[in-house]
Amino acid sequence: MNRSPSSDNQALNILQNTFGYQEFRGQQADIINQAISGQDILVLMPTGGGKSLCYQIPALVRSGVGVVISPLIALMQDQVNALAQLGVNACFLNSTLNYEQVRHIETCLIAGEIDLLYIAPERLIQPRTLSLLSQLPISLFAIDEAHCVSQWGHDFRSDYLNLSVLHEQFPNVPRMALTATADERTKQEIINRLELHQAKKYISGFDRPNIQYRIGQKGNVKKQLVNFIKQNHQNDCGIVYCLSRKRVESFAEHLSQQGFTALPYHAGLSADVRQTNQDRFLREDKIIIVATIAFGMGIDKPDVRFVAHVDLPKSIEAYYQETGRAGRDGLSSTAWMIYGLQDVMFLTQMMQDSQGNEQFKRSERNKLDAMLGLCEVTGCRRKVLLNYFNEQAPEQCGNCDNCLTPAETWDASVAAQKALSTVYRSGQRFGVVHLIDILLGANNQKIKQFSHQNLSTYGIGKELDSNTWRSVFRQLVVRGYLAVDVENYGSLKLTQSCRPVLNGEQSLQLRRDVFEAAGAKKSGKSKKQKIDIEEVDMPLWLKLKACRKRLANEHNVPAFVIFNDATLKEMLNHHPSNEEEMLAITGVGATKFERFGEQFLAVLSEADFV
Ligand code: ADP
Ligand code: ZN
Repeated sequence: MNRSPSSDNQALNILQNTFGYQEFRGQQADIINQAISGQDILVLMPTGGGKSLCYQIPALVRSGVGVVISPLIALMQDQVNALAQLGVNACFLNSTLNYEQVRHIETCLIAGEIDLLYIAPERLIQPRTLSLLSQLPISLFAIDEAHCVSQWGHDFRSDYLNLSVLHEQFPNVPRMALTATADERTKQEIINRLELHQAKKYISGFDRPNIQYRIGQKGNVKKQLVNFIKQNHQNDCGIVYCLSRKRVESFAEHLSQQGFTALPYHAGLSADVRQTNQDRFLREDKIIIVATIAFGMGIDKPDVRFVAHVDLPKSIEAYYQETGRAGRDGLSSTAWMIYGLQDVMFLTQMMQDSQGNEQFKRSERNKLDAMLGLCEVTGCRRKVLLNYFNEQAPEQCGNCDNCLTPAETWDASVAAQKALSTVYRSGQRFGVVHLIDILLGANNQKIKQFSHQNLSTYGIGKELDSNTWRSVFRQLVVRGYLAVDVENYGSLKLTQSCRPVLNGEQSLQLRRDVFEAAGAKKSGKSKKQKIDIEEVDMPLWLKLKACRKRLANEHNVPAFVIFNDATLKEMLNHHPSNEEEMLAITGVGATKFERFGEQFLAVLSEADFV
């Protein structure tokens, strides 16, 4: 391996010596070269793709300070700490600093001692900041999380609209906008609002091959969740998403009772509690965060091993963004979700009640339909996801539940006829629970009250159990044969398109439900490396982790800032015994070696004697 610096390739030199990585990934090299030459650039790259290096390296190569605009104030400290561990001079300006600290940073900036400055958009546009920046040589502006400029997205930040100040006041400084949001509309909005028409555009594939997608039906939700974690991620960090604060509290409590360290996170908690819980999640091992969608934008934790949804997100965009927080380090991870008819009802209701105009509601409805399509599909889930973002994909990915355990279907033509005619005969004003009671011939108060024992469909569905009937109704709703009447408390109505099914002119294949969201990692053909540690290696692995933990505490940074799991695993496998061998490990750069290298070499050499 050749690590000698070569003057014509400063970027590679910095990648290897400062960051400790052997080679660029995907389009990084092109992007970085273009940025060094002063181009405006738009980067669309999935989470974990390696966007940070795309602006960090050019900022180091070009003269002047690189200014990174980011909405994520809570993370700036960690980002700056992580860079400091690599020997990069970085700092941030945001509302958490006092006057003295701000003055100090300004002095350092003017003295030209800073390579990277992180700053929140609302801070950037203050006259004091603009006047400071106008005195400095600036290497580039990086606009991180650029989708925040889009008013259609759920992360909209009005301060981002003011970023036009950049090209107006600093026309000669190159700009780079970066986001992991994939859809065409957001992309166009970024280009228009940030005036990036002339920019070079780098659109990377959006596949996350190391994430295994699994979607199943809701049964006993808490039990399903606990089983999933116990069987697949007993010792891992993960995120559980719920739709309401109440559910967050209840799931966090349940997981804690089961022996997990589960912390709640939602907008109803005080800022202090949220901060503490987020910090623990970033710094400690084996923490599960149970959260509403308020948690996670830009969570930079590379080793989140699973993201579980116990409620259905309202669009594929939201689902993909949330599941995308798993496995940024490229190691295998799981996106697990369970859903049911009640989710469909709830989201339909929410949409109905929302403030938007008709066009907005229609667009929300289409998004929900696409999400439901993903849930019900019997083919490859990854293909559905990628096609949704206008990307080609093979028929089979080999790493989703449907590819691993092909979904079964059954001929539900007769069952559908029975279900639809029950809706019709009872007057299209009852919900699914009562409709199933009619089909199963239940003998309860409500049946008597409406004399439903006299209906011709009363008791004609005894060949199926109530779970299966729920599944039939859900799929009839999702396929548009039945509509949910939200005005009328979730009663079901026939739609125009159900006629051929009702009349027996069209046959219907339905998916046989799976309650465990199976797909079983064990049978997984995941092409990606796992952090499975062999029994014999376990003692050394634990020692390496202990060493990392000790250093992390000493330096007051999250463990992965010292070295991430992939780097530790490589040490375990390759057993470096001197500086040269250690520097060949991915993730070990010159500065990190100087600071931590000897300590890990000591752990490894001790292991050789036992
Ligand atoms: P993004 O911002 O696109 O989600 P990051 O910039 O956080 O992704 O990078 C994700 C992970 O990949 C980080 O741990 C980063 O250090 C690592 N990484 C980035 N580029 C490379 C590379 N060329 N070689 C090895 N690891 C890399
Ligand atoms: Zn698949």
